[in-house]
Amino acid sequence: MSYLIVKCPHCGDVRAVHSGVKSFQCFTCGRRVKFHPHLILYKTSDRDSLPLLVMKFKEVSLKRRS
Ligand SMILES: [Zn+2]
Repeated sequence: MSYLIVKCPHCGDVRAVHSGVKSFQCFTCGRRVKFHPHLILYKTSDRDSLPLLVMKFKEVSLKRRS
């Protein structure tokens, strides 16, 4: 099983999803997001590293926004 780090196109928040999903729900803005390859920030098969990766990419996206 591999995982994707994806970015919500509505609010810019970052979360992890299973690869192969057609859509996902953003925990932050609550909107349903249709999956698109351009939303992928990172791919990994290491489930244990997901929280760290999400945190890391959240930081990056916050820095870019401000
Ligand atoms: Zn969102």
